[in-house]
Amino acid sequence: MNTPVRYFDYAATTPLDPQVWAAMQPYFEAEFGNPSSVHGYGQRAEAAVENARGGLAAALGCQPEEILFTSGGTESNNLALRGAALAARRQRGANRLLVSPVEHPAVARTAQQLAAEFGFELTYLPVDEYGMLHPKDVARLLTPDTALVSVILANNEVGTINPIAEIAAICRERGIPLHSDAIQAPAHLPLTVTELGVDLLSLGAHKLYGPKGVGLLYVRAGTPLLPTQTGGGHEAGLRAGTHNVPYIVGMAEAFDLAQAELDQSARRLANLRDQVISKVLQIPDSKLTGHPSQRLANHASFVFKGIDSNALLMLLDAAGFACSSGSACKTGDPQPSEVLLAMGLAPEWAAGSLRITLGKHTTQADVDALLTALPGLIERARMLEGALR
Ligand SMILES: *Cc1c(COP(=O)(O)O)cnc(C)c1O
Repeated sequence: MNTPVRYFDYAATTPLDPQVWAAMQPYFEAEFGNPSSVHGYGQRAEAAVENARGGLAAALGCQPEEILFTSGGTESNNLALRGAALAARRQRGANRLLVSPVEHPAVARTAQQLAAEFGFELTYLPVDEYGMLHPKDVARLLTPDTALVSVILANNEVGTINPIAEIAAICRERGIPLHSDAIQAPAHLPLTVTELGVDLLSLGAHKLYGPKGVGLLYVRAGTPLLPTQTGGGHEAGLRAGTHNVPYIVGMAEAFDLAQAELDQSARRLANLRDQVISKVLQIPDSKLTGHPSQRLANHASFVFKGIDSNALLMLLDAAGFACSSGSACKTGDPQPSEVLLAMGLAPEWAAGSLRITLGKHTTQADVDALLTALPGLIERARMLEGALR
């Protein structure tokens, strides 16, 4: 019998929590109504959507009307960037986007398209060697013609947590909207828009033990936003499309559960994470990527000199460990991660990235097994790379 593969890729996705599934299940079956219908089926589905919205709003510290449901984190980021940029241009002629160079592709590619096809000027904020943004740089580069600023809250590749509240205070003072992609955060950090002070915030459910294909965008009341998906008048006319009732119910349940388990989970995972970091850094020619302390509790990420990360991932998989290189790069794509290059890593280091992300089901035994196997696998990956040269 094959031994089960140990899962170390919680930043890519998480398994659905059984309690979340239980909350969703009735809305696939008995309560299948369309929330826009007038009859009882519709009213009960609408009540479920509004109940989820109310719960999420209470948890995030905002009004229910400030939450738009979407098809996931990618759509939330697309709607935030395109919707706010186009609205700001129409309203005040603003034509510049100020974006961090360490964004998820859902933000990075959207900003690039707004520049290439819609004539926006794209300015990148600098990051330090840990991939962290600094408020003083935002203050320096923020101009009155800026339509939108976008800075990721917790980085998916390197785990670094940015000082969003300080950045938000600067944007607020100048009257420029700030968007933050918070998709990696809610399973590991307390999260309220009151404390963050952002105008737009993207969340998705599948990084926190909820279903894939559902997310939300928080839009602070009064923030100009042009809908990018038009149709019926759903979501106050800002995001058309029949509500995905079971998934929306699931996201609210997952968010509640994650935030309730936060303290305990963060302490346990940070302990395992620190074991991983200290042991892996004993491997020759290894470096931690991302911030040493301001990082997600479940996130350990590294680069190894002279390794192809895809080769290492395949060796790990064959040995029973599911890990990631950290970037959305597909097998066979030889390009090193743009995020790692933006942090100033040389390409021969950046090509050998490894992301180990822990979660609810990670045990001490899982971590021990990985740490025992990893040094030998790194050595093999180095020999393979050497043979190819
Ligand atoms: C996963 C992820 C996304 C994309 O979300 P989907 O729901 O998978 O579309 C965007 N940003 C970050 C930081 C992510 O981790």
